[in-house]
Amino acid sequence: MTALEGYVRGPLIADVYAFSLIYVSIGMGFMLLRRKVLPRDKWWALFSVYVLEIVSVLIQYYYPGLLLEMFFTSLAVLMIVLMVQRPEEVVDPVVGLLSWNAYQEEMKKVTYSGHRASIVMLRFKNAYEVRSNLGEDVYSKYLVKVAGIMGLFCQQEKLSHSIYYEQSGAFFLVIDNPDYPIEGMVPMFLSKFSRQNEGFSSYWKRLEPKFCTVHYPEQVGDYATLIQFGRQFPKLMKGDQIFAKAEEIVNSRRFQVEIHMETILNRALENQSFEIHYQPIYSIKSGTFHAAEALIRLRDAEYGYVTPDIFIPAAEVSGLIHVVGNLILEKTYSFVGSSKFRKTGLEYLEVNLSVSQLMQPNLIEQIKELQFRYNVDPSRINFEVTETEYDDEAETMERNIEQLVEMGYSFSLDDYGTGYSNIRRVLSLPLKIIKIDKSLVDDMDTEKGITVLANTIGMMKEIKMELVVEGVENKAQLDALTSMGADYIQGYYFSKPLTEDEFVQFIMESSHETKRNFMSMDWYQDSLAGTRPLSPEDMPESQKRRR
Ligand code: C2E
Ligand code: MG
Ligand code: MG
Repeated sequence: MTALEGYVRGPLIADVYAFSLIYVSIGMGFMLLRRKVLPRDKWWALFSVYVLEIVSVLIQYYYPGLLLEMFFTSLAVLMIVLMVQRPEEVVDPVVGLLSWNAYQEEMKKVTYSGHRASIVMLRFKNAYEVRSNLGEDVYSKYLVKVAGIMGLFCQQEKLSHSIYYEQSGAFFLVIDNPDYPIEGMVPMFLSKFSRQNEGFSSYWKRLEPKFCTVHYPEQVGDYATLIQFGRQFPKLMKGDQIFAKAEEIVNSRRFQVEIHMETILNRALENQSFEIHYQPIYSIKSGTFHAAEALIRLRDAEYGYVTPDIFIPAAEVSGLIHVVGNLILEKTYSFVGSSKFRKTGLEYLEVNLSVSQLMQPNLIEQIKELQFRYNVDPSRINFEVTETEYDDEAETMERNIEQLVEMGYSFSLDDYGTGYSNIRRVLSLPLKIIKIDKSLVDDMDTEKGITVLANTIGMMKEIKMELVVEGVENKAQLDALTSMGADYIQGYYFSKPLTEDEFVQFIMESSHETKRNFMSMDWYQDSLAGTRPLSPEDMPESQKRRR
């Protein structure tokens, strides 16, 4: 700066340029090496900052009168703020903490720069329900408080840390010091939470907290696994377990299956290793098996038997559910249309339809086509549905269900009494059957459980629903349910799900023997008159063997 001319470029400007050249070269080289750390658009936004700077320097060099460098620098800074830092992406708009996006980016940086991190994960297992009970406002304030308590503890311990929040109800506390014994932090947090006021702890108990500590990457191999781990670890912990260490979960077969699900599903589709098994449903009134439920099975060469509880939700997430769903429909229609099924004399087959299948735009056409190809009467199929979390999905679902009902199909609400099916659905859908979930049957060993079940059955009968009770495993349960007025029983007491051939044989044998037994017994007349329900005591030997 001179008094006369103000800001001037003296002879040392050459040095400034030389240093800039070194700085820009190192910067560009570094960015080229670490291409994977940033998403493509952000990488290009940052990289073009260097290009802009070089262009501006060149222009200004040839036209020193145009003071362009400052202008271009401002442009570059603006671009970084808009494209790279994007505050709305880095900060969660509701709770004001660092966002899930920011967590993912941070973990990518840790991964690709070869660094390590210690992470304490906290996920509320039932956050969705609690949020809808408490309302967004109270819930968010509560979460901010939870994060505040953890943050304060880290500050007191002088730990450099960041807390990220994921909207489905999870916190990720990342400690920069990879060797810090984070396992000891969870009991400290728990004791701090328990010492809060009454209001705080009443919510805390409702939220079903699950903690997990992770040393990354030592315990959880790579970035993709780490992200998946953060979502799934609570499912892999025991019901009442609050705290687990990553190694306990990572080595479990269940987690290995979860992370290799995509491979397992593709392999099963390729090798056609899906099978449909059938579980008979017993009618108390007629004393025979009048229907069955189709249940899909997958046996993988490497991981063995994988339950549908695991692979159906995974297939929904990956989009493969459409292929799997088509396969289920194809196989069940082909069975119902076959002479084998006719021989069994069963009234109908129950087929599970997942939410994503019900959202499929071409579902109706597909069903019409199958119905025609296998010559299946719609009254022979009853679809089982559960609840969806999302209102706009519920609308599409309801439209599809109504259309199928018009075509002559009937519907059951599956898993009644769990978080997935509730009374609102019973009232809003054109249902014929309610399937009471096994968990309610399991509660029958307490007086409260019996009261709930008896009243549920009573209420459903009063609104003219047919009732299937699932998961019946012993005679005591069957007798109690019979006296409560249940219509149909499904459970291991009668039979586990069987392969197609086993199933047909089972039904044929049982119907022969039932007829024979019926004709020779007095109570057959009583049961026809409806004064005495048939008891499974009198079941033929062939059925008892399979239990
Ligand atoms: P769900 O539809 O409620 O099926 C009943 C489940 O309870 C079946 O488990 C059946 O094997 C089991 N079960 C029946 N009786 C008893 C019993 O007495 N004791 C015990 N412990 N269990 C019993 P599975 O086959 O493992 O199926 C689990 C869930 O996976 C099903 O629950 C259903 O939601 C889903 N799923 C199965 N097959 C299909 C399918 O083809 N499509 C769709 N979308 N979902 C399916
Ligand atoms: Mg079902
Ligand atoms: Mg069920």
